[in-house]
Amino acid sequence: MIKCLRCSKCCHYLYEGKVVPCKFLVKIGKKYMCRIYNNRLGQVNAVHKNGTKTVCMMRDQDVNDYVGCPYNTDKPIFDVFNEIEK
Ligand code: SF4
Ligand code: SF4
Repeated sequence: MIKCLRCSKCCHYLYEGKVVPCKFLVKIGKKYMCRIYNNRLGQVNAVHKNGTKTVCMMRDQDVNDYVGCPYNTDKPIFDVFNEIEK
């Protein structure tokens, strides 16, 4: 069975050219969890200066894949932590 690694890579988004974590993301030890997991879908996790909103969605609706994620299909990989380190 596929299991989330709780790496948080899919819980980051681009904001003014930088990668930042969702405001609902919490780090517990070396893993991450969502503060609102049961009610997360459709919640606004970022409001951008131009008024657009980023909302949480099902992982399979994400336009990207992430390094090492077991739910990857054939979408473009978004290398979140390399983006942060830039
Ligand atoms: S990128 Fe994949 S493994 Fe990591 S938190 Fe998201 S769904 Fe889980
Ligand atoms: S609301 Fe969505 S994007 Fe934000 S931490 Fe929870 S699962 Fe991740």
